[in-house]
Amino acid sequence: MIPAAFEYARAESVEDAIRLLGDDPEAKILAGGHSLLPLMKVRFAQPSLLVDIGRLSDLSYIREDGDRVAIGALTRHHDVEHSDILHELCPIVSYTAGTIGDPQVRHVGTIGGSVAHADAASDMPTVLLALDAEIVAQGPNGTRTIPAGAFFVGLFTSALEPDEVLTEIRIPRATAGWSYQKFHRRAQDWAMVGVAAVRMNGGAHVALTNVGDRPLRASAVERALVGGAAPASGAASAAEGTAPPSDTFGSAEYRKELSKVLVRRALEDTLG
Ligand code: FAD
Repeated sequence: MIPAAFEYARAESVEDAIRLLGDDPEAKILAGGHSLLPLMKVRFAQPSLLVDIGRLSDLSYIREDGDRVAIGALTRHHDVEHSDILHELCPIVSYTAGTIGDPQVRHVGTIGGSVAHADAASDMPTVLLALDAEIVAQGPNGTRTIPAGAFFVGLFTSALEPDEVLTEIRIPRATAGWSYQKFHRRAQDWAMVGVAAVRMNGGAHVALTNVGDRPLRASAVERALVGGAAPASGAASAAEGTAPPSDTFGSAEYRKELSKVLVRRALEDTLG
């Protein structure tokens, strides 16, 4: 439970963080530390240097930006949960932030950390995937915008380069209909399975938590809905293309069945 030795540097700006990351290929950014520090304690992560961005307050904001809402990477889950702008323009994001962990986790953990960590069991990546959100990254060569669909590439792996800082998340307005169904055994647990559904572009976007190595779009369900299927029959294809884990909470088969039930509930909420 004791991390390997590491150096620590507090970044004075995003540019400073990028420089520090560029100087040491084994360096890692520290935001809220609620995912990274537990991994370091069991030595699954052994960064040589922690680049602390936790005090870069200009990375903490939620604001309207044209037809999008821009959320700074360091915005805490608590602030996302209680944002008036998000309640009005994209309530699935504020609702989902309120389902993450417990109050302590929500006061310290950041939306950028949750996205950069790319844990398939995390809630917010699934919602951002359903929304076709954009992730903004800044590196030594400037800034680029990555669609959520291309950002989550594998187990705890994102499209971020080691010397890039995730600076902003950009989400569309989505008020027509939405649902996030999180199934867990105890109130503050991670999702055994989660489902995000959003009414968008004349149809429904559906994405799944914890049924593969990354958040997954339920493409078969979306196709069935385009073909005119009702929620109950569309939901029957929810497990197509998934590869859920088996653990002490439930088997892969159980999670597949659960995903069908939760997709049906999410679609009934969203389209009803
Ligand atoms: P950190 O731990 O600081 O960083 C995580 C990773 O992202 C590190 O690799 C770090 O280098 C990288 N990183 C962080 N910020 C950036 C950035 N701006 N640019 C580039 N890389 C960056 N999450 C859920 O979704 N649902 C839950 O139910 C849930 N329950 C939890 C319960 C507990 C008890 C705990 C401890 C955590 C839980 N979490 C849950 C995780 C929580 O949401 C974390 O806060 C979040 O996953 C990581 O955010 P962080 O700011 O703490 O990131």
